[in-house]
Amino acid sequence: MSTTETTATAGDIRPRLRWGVPAYVLLVLVAMTLAIVVPKTGYILNISMQATTYAVAVLGLTIVLGLCGQINLAQAAFFGLGAYAVGLGQTDYGLNFWVCLLIGTGIAAGFGALLGASTLRLGGHYLAMVTISFQQIVTLVLINWIPVTKGPDGVRAIPRPPLFGDGSTYLALCIAVLGILGYLVWRLRDTRLGRAMRAVRDNELAAGVAGIDVYRTKVTAFALSAVLGGIGGGLFAGGFSYVSPDQFSFAESVVFLTMVLLGGVASPIGAVIGTGLLILIPEWLRFLKSIPGLYLAIYGAAVILIVLFMPDGIWGYLRGRLDRFKRTVLPVSSGLALPLSGGGEGSETVLEVRGLSKHFGGLKAVDEVDLTIRRGGVHALIGPNGSGKTTTLNVLSGLYRATAGTVTLNGQDITNLPPHARTKAGLGRTFQNIRLWRSMTALENVMVGAERPGNPVANDPAAVVARARAALAFVDLEDRANEVVASFSYGHQRAVEIARALAGDPVLLLLDEPGAGLNSSEKVELRNLLKRISARGLTIMIIDHDMTLVSEVAQHITVLNFGRRIADGYSADVLKHPDVIAAYLGTGPDVAA
Ligand code: ADP
Ligand code: MG
Repeated sequence: MSTTETTATAGDIRPRLRWGVPAYVLLVLVAMTLAIVVPKTGYILNISMQATTYAVAVLGLTIVLGLCGQINLAQAAFFGLGAYAVGLGQTDYGLNFWVCLLIGTGIAAGFGALLGASTLRLGGHYLAMVTISFQQIVTLVLINWIPVTKGPDGVRAIPRPPLFGDGSTYLALCIAVLGILGYLVWRLRDTRLGRAMRAVRDNELAAGVAGIDVYRTKVTAFALSAVLGGIGGGLFAGGFSYVSPDQFSFAESVVFLTMVLLGGVASPIGAVIGTGLLILIPEWLRFLKSIPGLYLAIYGAAVILIVLFMPDGIWGYLRGRLDRFKRTVLPVSSGLALPLSGGGEGSETVLEVRGLSKHFGGLKAVDEVDLTIRRGGVHALIGPNGSGKTTTLNVLSGLYRATAGTVTLNGQDITNLPPHARTKAGLGRTFQNIRLWRSMTALENVMVGAERPGNPVANDPAAVVARARAALAFVDLEDRANEVVASFSYGHQRAVEIARALAGDPVLLLLDEPGAGLNSSEKVELRNLLKRISARGLTIMIIDHDMTLVSEVAQHITVLNFGRRIADGYSADVLKHPDVIAAYLGTGPDVAA
């Protein structure tokens, strides 16, 4: 922003506001002080209490929907679990407020994880339906399990914790909690977990292949979101001293979702803005209540207009404006080298594939293919379009389950492992149709690559940044590290994808048509890049149609046709093989390279 100094060192992910954190702490303290000293009516106090406790729950949606891209229409249920734990725990079981809050949060976390577990098989609309069902079940239990929940009557006379018995001090407590949790959610974005969540949101398949346990990441996102729901609900119960099932219905879940979408899912600031507005707008419009219906119509229209003209929410819109004034900080060249261990000195063979088949119904896309890749060389997999090259790669990296056959990487049988576990075992790959996380910067994309489980630097944040920068420097893109990759040219996107794989220091690098779509000068750069990677001892398997490129960089070639291996051996021999010439290059005299 224009008023603040921005600094960037080699360890920074994005330009940091020097006064950001102290200013934030000051802001929260001022808000707390105002809550205590400013005299207010019970009405204002209630609105403020509702806004702060709701905002805590809405922060949860910033995580699950904003960071991880998963729909959750049950946030009110988690809010209710926290509220009822604080209500019933104190009134019926005589427990301490804080103990109840902890229990409520734990219960919410458990159910959140359970709900997240349903993402194993479900996504999109189905996931939305499961969360709605969960929401309805919680509502039904609250209404009908009368001996425990007191049914529709709700729970009355819920006490507040000692020291915070007075409404104003309790509001200050809620603001403090919101301030702390908001900060943590803001920080989460740039942690390893936060990056993993964003990667899952942007491209789930690429996330798995980069070594992220997609399922565990989603379960964690749901659990964290539920925790925030539970805390918000617990505080709400203490604030209003009365809870009943209708406060935690599906309609409220929709309200929570609207709040986060309205404010902007990308940032906790959006959550707070959205919550504040959706609670305040109806109050501002109260004077219209004499005309029935008008109030709701204006309220609805306002929400629709905001969502329509600010698809990223209010904060997303404001940020876009503010970014115009932002001084761009060019990253200082790190001058770091990129060591590629290539898995060290093991046996001579890196990858051993035996009798690999992949059938799609009756189509034998890959048919009993054998493949041996020796350490340290470049091995090309070629063949006409539709001959099964990409399918082979997809079976190798675990995106498809093999119909038959075995795959051994560095002596380890990886045939039945999920993609992220194969990546942990040392596979790195790029995709024929580029799969980057498009809303993330080049550096963030490559950092996730460096965070590959199994990479020695993965647990050291500073080393991850250094390695990612080195990988970007290796492909000549370090000066664009802090730019969002969606704005990159096709060739640069390819380079970032390769850098992402290199940053993970894989044992074997699989490249699916890296030259596709590149212009001739980009192809020259690619050829040089491949040679530089290979010179560092990393084993590469490359699929490409460019015979000049293949014959220049590859020592070994395997040729597929209709899913079957028709030739295999040293490049010069294979390219002379009559079957290869017939099947791949065509038999006519006008053979194109
Ligand atoms: P290549 O990469 O060599 O051009 P592919 O491996 O993409 O070829 O495809 C091999 C064959 O498998 C093609 O006939 C293709 O249509 C088929 N195929 C690939 N993926 C699938 C899929 N998911 N479902 C059904 N058929 C597929
Ligand atoms: Mg292909």
